[in-house]
Amino acid sequence: MAKRSPLAGARILVTNDDGIHAPGLKVLQNIAKSLSDDVWVVAPESEQSAVAHALTLRRPVRLRKLAPRRYALDGTPTDCVLIAAHKLFKERRPDLVLSGVNDGGNLGEDVTYSGTVAAAMEGCLLGLRAIALSQQRNPRGEPRFAVAERHAPEVIGKLAGFDWGRDMLINVNFPACAPEDVRGVVACKQGSRDLGSAIVEGADPGGRPYLWIGSYQSDVTRARNTDLAAVARDAIAVTPLHLDLTHRAALKRLQTLFG
Ligand code: MN
Repeated sequence: MAKRSPLAGARILVTNDDGIHAPGLKVLQNIAKSLSDDVWVVAPESEQSAVAHALTLRRPVRLRKLAPRRYALDGTPTDCVLIAAHKLFKERRPDLVLSGVNDGGNLGEDVTYSGTVAAAMEGCLLGLRAIALSQQRNPRGEPRFAVAERHAPEVIGKLAGFDWGRDMLINVNFPACAPEDVRGVVACKQGSRDLGSAIVEGADPGGRPYLWIGSYQSDVTRARNTDLAAVARDAIAVTPLHLDLTHRAALKRLQTLFG
């Protein structure tokens, strides 16, 4: 007999920041469907990578139904989760929000830029369990999402059975190795690296100069027990995040300063 999914009967909302047509969204939708038969997809019409936790307030957004339980929204990942929660799930809220699978890792300070992680943050703010999933790019080529495809169901299933607080979301990063070469799943903290964006300078066809922010030229700091260190040694990184950005040590000193 097939093993019962820990999420059987659960309502799962799938979103992303790479857009409704992204291959990683399809991968995550299939993973979710392998865990439950109540899977809903609400994803941005177009790519929203690096929009972070942006919310669309100055214009209306339109929700377009593509198929049963499948919608595109001309907004941000945060909009998708918020609109889905308020408009689609009035009677029964999702039990789990899954965001991804992002094409590329969301490691270290990436989480502050990431639309993928922000969608999970929004789920967290709404009191929902939420997991962001990202796949490191494989420099050796396709298939791009093989590690996530193989390993995400078990990781998600385990997290589903974990007693997790209301103010937490989970950030999962899959390494760029072959699926059979994955060296375990490790719970680790958010890492840190020196971010130096490559700024490309050029001129448009009319001769006007432009600046174009390129991909990171980063010195990866492989401090122990970080997401960066985990994927660098081909392990799957699982990092609990929360939205309280307070710098605790400085708070005490500031209280003394202003006390
Ligand atoms: Mn993205």
